[in-house]
Amino acid sequence: MRKRPASLEAHRVRAQDDDSVRIGTVRWSAAKSLWFLGMAAGAAIGGLATFTWSALALFVASTGCVLLFGHSLGSHRKLIHDSYQCPRWLEYLFVYLGVQVGLAGPLGLMRQHELRDYAQRLPDCHDYLRHGRRFWVDAWWQLNCELHLLNPPAIRIEARVRQDPFYRLLERTWMAQQLPWAALFFLWGGWGFVFWGVCARVTAGVFGHWVIGYFAHNHGPMRYEVRRAAVQGHNVPWTSLLTMGECWHNNHHAFPGSARLGLAPGEWDPGWWALVALRRAGLAWDFRLPHHLAPRPELVACTAAPAAKSASAASPARAPRVLA
Ligand SMILES: [Zn+2]
Ligand SMILES: [Zn+2]
Repeated sequence: MRKRPASLEAHRVRAQDDDSVRIGTVRWSAAKSLWFLGMAAGAAIGGLATFTWSALALFVASTGCVLLFGHSLGSHRKLIHDSYQCPRWLEYLFVYLGVQVGLAGPLGLMRQHELRDYAQRLPDCHDYLRHGRRFWVDAWWQLNCELHLLNPPAIRIEARVRQDPFYRLLERTWMAQQLPWAALFFLWGGWGFVFWGVCARVTAGVFGHWVIGYFAHNHGPMRYEVRRAAVQGHNVPWTSLLTMGECWHNNHHAFPGSARLGLAPGEWDPGWWALVALRRAGLAWDFRLPHHLAPRPELVACTAAPAAKSASAASPARAPRVLA
């Protein structure tokens, strides 16, 4: 086994050897596939049959809310990366909204993220973990299948999250968490509100998460390269508002613990704007930024053309001093 970067020493994933994230089979998952296809069918058939402008407005508002406060601020920047601090009740609210995206429960999402993050930083990993196959193969895999590693690595979730009764409840019931909202939307606006406010929202969240993940590991500009990593992160600039800033994935591979994802001027990051607003209201503090993170010798700044897929000429990266 080759020596691993020191930045992986404190990682939640512990692998005995590099093969543990490389060798496995991708198998159809009935629960995952039927969940996604059922929501997509509800959105396509029910949604079209019941379209109203108010149902569309509910879809846009509820999707924006769960992506910004739930997925970006709750699941990703707080629960997984702990990149800022906030009151516990607000963390619960954000993580609850993250579950409403419909990807997984909080612990399942953490495990998926950490396994990918770890595997992508090693010299080689399974194609499933790095979006390494053609677009349609990756779509089938990520939306309908699961990877079964032959010798999966241990993933340690800290007791603060693993033993939290609220997170355990959400983990057991994450699919059922859509039901109270379905009932509420039905009472409010009939089936049209259910198809648009639940089915279309979950379809957009799950499909969007995959499609951005595909492009963010295959195409788009890079400013940093992680040397000897199985795959590089790419920025997907035109989706900055749609993804609430999560599209700055090259920056995220370079500085995974940063609360701010859009680092350069013009890199719009609505998640960061929301954090700054929360700080003004006294509801968020202790933001971690790239210059607070330990230097990584394997991280180099790209000096090649910005759209280049891999940096031909590179110099050691210094963390940008972005304003907190
Ligand atoms: Zn990535
Ligand atoms: Zn992350």
